[in-house]
Amino acid sequence: MKKIVLRAREYFSSLLLLELLRGLMLTGRQMFKRKVTLHFPEEKTPRSGRFRGLHALRRYPNGEERCIACKLCEAVCPALAIHIESEQREDGSRRTTRYDIDLTKCIFCGMCEEACPVDAVVETHVLEYHGERRGDLYYTKDMLLAVGDKYEKEIAAARAADARYR
Ligand code: SF4
Ligand code: SF4
Repeated sequence: MKKIVLRAREYFSSLLLLELLRGLMLTGRQMFKRKVTLHFPEEKTPRSGRFRGLHALRRYPNGEERCIACKLCEAVCPALAIHIESEQREDGSRRTTRYDIDLTKCIFCGMCEEACPVDAVVETHVLEYHGERRGDLYYTKDMLLAVGDKYEKEIAAARAADARYR
C-alpha cells in the first residue's frame, strides 16, 4: 500500500512539474539576495595589509637601496629561492651586486621579510603578475627594485599600519 502511495505521489509530482517549479522558486529567491560574486579584475576583494604577494626591494627616500647584503633572508629562506652576491663599496659600506628571487621556488612564507633588519625585502599586495616562460618568474635585483619603486607608497602605508603589531 505504502509503495502505491509513493508511486502515485511521484507520478503527480512529475506530471505537475513540481521539481521544476521548486527549482524556479529557488532561482527567484536568489535573484534578490545580495550578490557575493565579483567582476574580477574590475572589482577586487579586500586584502589584508599583511598579504604576501610579489616581492620588492625598497630604497630610502634619498634613493639609496636599503639592503645591506647581510644575507639573512637568503639563509632563512626554506625554499632556497634567494641568491645574493655582494661586495664592499669604496666608502666601506656593503651592497649586493646580485639579488635574485626565483618565484617558481618561493612558497610566499614571508620569512625573508621577517628576517630583514632594514625592511629592504618585502612582499607587496601585488598578486596580478604572471610569466609566460619559466624564466619570467626569475626576478633579478633590478626587477625587484623596480617593483619597490613603483609600489613604495603602498608598501610604506602597509608597514606603518602594521608597525604596532611587530
Ligand atoms: S617568501 Fe619565503 S620562500 Fe619566498 S623568498 Fe621569502 S623566505 Fe623564501
Ligand atoms: S634584503 Fe634584508 S635580510 Fe636580505 S640581505 Fe638585504 S638587508 Fe639582509
